[in-house]
Amino acid sequence: MASKPYRDYNSYLRELFGCRVQKITLDAGLTCPNRDGTLGTGGCIYCNERGSGTGAAQQSKSITEQLANAKAYLKRRYKAIKFLGYFQSFTNTYAPLPRLRSLYAEALSDPDVVGLTIGTRPDCVSEEVLDHLQELSQQRLIWLEYGLQSANDDTLSRIHRGHDVAAFESALRRTRERGIPVCAHVILGLPGEDRELMLNTARFVANHDIQSVKIHLLYVVRGTPLESWYEQGQYQCLSREEYVSMAAEFLTLLPPHVIIQRLTGDPHPEELVAPSWALEKSENLRALHAYMEKYGLYQGKDHALR
Ligand code: SF4
Repeated sequence: MASKPYRDYNSYLRELFGCRVQKITLDAGLTCPNRDGTLGTGGCIYCNERGSGTGAAQQSKSITEQLANAKAYLKRRYKAIKFLGYFQSFTNTYAPLPRLRSLYAEALSDPDVVGLTIGTRPDCVSEEVLDHLQELSQQRLIWLEYGLQSANDDTLSRIHRGHDVAAFESALRRTRERGIPVCAHVILGLPGEDRELMLNTARFVANHDIQSVKIHLLYVVRGTPLESWYEQGQYQCLSREEYVSMAAEFLTLLPPHVIIQRLTGDPHPEELVAPSWALEKSENLRALHAYMEKYGLYQGKDHALR
């Protein structure tokens, strides 16, 4: 095992491309059916109007401009020479195919971009979009990222996701049939979830054909329904200690080959309501590593026991 007690994403990219590869977050200016009225208008209870995005599209920045700006910075800071375009904000398969084709093609026309990672909802991937992504995957690295959040339907309903676990399973099956790798997003600390429900989500990930996972901490952002719940005492955030022990146990249940892309939240300081420790990303990772070392834990340790 590498120095980290789990299979980390940067090492995976380095193995694949032989050099450091930096992800560049892109905002395609799309929306989400859970916000535009198709499924709902309020969104998931923790999502604000930016849809977890950078807001670059609202500032009229094209994909080409966003890439150029980020590349200049990342080349200076990390001496990076290869990049992955990450369509992150809102639902990046939620538009007619010609528009999506043109967005993906614009990102891939940059010779330094070795592939794309496309974040979306599992109920928003049509066969034609998947067929197109399969074609692209013959030439470049293509990943799909689906929000699962929890493997519990009651939780998904409570947080107003607008889809169920079966929708995730369907998207996963159709994506894997085309050979495209999948990253599942999960959230620890969702309202109504206890330790056992969170670990059930880990078991779900472990028992499905999922290549990577992003483990998020639920934090409260201004202007969201969750903020009202929090202010009214209907939601309590996890403490750092609870999060660390939960994330560590989650990792022990995953098979060793699953790539871990994220282990913390990454809130904007000006938007965060609570918990304040969510801003201390390095400290949180240090605490997790120390906890895992102290108790002899590592990814896959309890995989066979799941
Ligand atoms: S699916 Fe994503 S963009 Fe849509 S409301 Fe939920 S968190 Fe926001």
